[in-house]
Amino acid sequence: MVTIKSDSEIQLLKIAGNIVYRTHQYLKPFLKEGITTKELDKLAEDFILENDATPSFKGYGGFPGSICASINNEVVHGIPGDRKLKTGDIVSIDIGACYKGYHGDSAWTYAVGEVSEEKKYLMKHTEAALFEGLNEVKAGNRIGDIGFAIESYAKKHNLAVVKELVGHGVGSNLHESPDVPNYGNKGKGLVLKEGMVIAVEPMLNLGTANIFILDDDWTIITADEKPSAHYEHTVAVTKDGYQILTGE
Ligand code: MG
Ligand code: MG
Repeated sequence: MVTIKSDSEIQLLKIAGNIVYRTHQYLKPFLKEGITTKELDKLAEDFILENDATPSFKGYGGFPGSICASINNEVVHGIPGDRKLKTGDIVSIDIGACYKGYHGDSAWTYAVGEVSEEKKYLMKHTEAALFEGLNEVKAGNRIGDIGFAIESYAKKHNLAVVKELVGHGVGSNLHESPDVPNYGNKGKGLVLKEGMVIAVEPMLNLGTANIFILDDDWTIITADEKPSAHYEHTVAVTKDGYQILTGE
């Protein structure tokens, strides 16, 4: 069921989202060669707890971490562990926080030191694809408009859209209806209404769109081992557009 959030619910979602945003800002200076993804996970978890929230991902479907940390050819759901970041890596950090029963969800891909031109290209255009999708978010538009905009932008820049994983509604559950695919047809799908809250989250690959899941049953990797990037904001649909909830 797709729910319309009240103003007071949107206020709580905004507090949760702001904690997610600030956790990202807090982690940024630590994203350097030598740090393990487990250390990043601990930093993020402590920060979220200190802000009177809980990490949404911890224990979600049995996920062992508080954040997802996905390096290079890993698309999403990388489990924090003993692996160290290296200069030249890109790392997608996905963070969720729950405040008074309401969630925020945002992912961002970061460069570790200087990275290759192709990785820079992938990051720049995946971030831009997120905003192309968000440009379509407003009351009266449809879910398909968002996916169409993202897919068209990705195609234009020779990047592949991961189709098995999609954006989603956000509220008192981390994942709610509707699904928000990163592909679609203009003018098709559910009509967006003021007060809906959704996470838009393109995952784009430099090579093939095909993906595999690793034996840990979580980590998703690209089939050709080329890099992947992931950008996500949770937003509220407004009359004329959208309000970013996972921001300042
Ligand atoms: Mg996320
Ligand atoms: Mg999400």
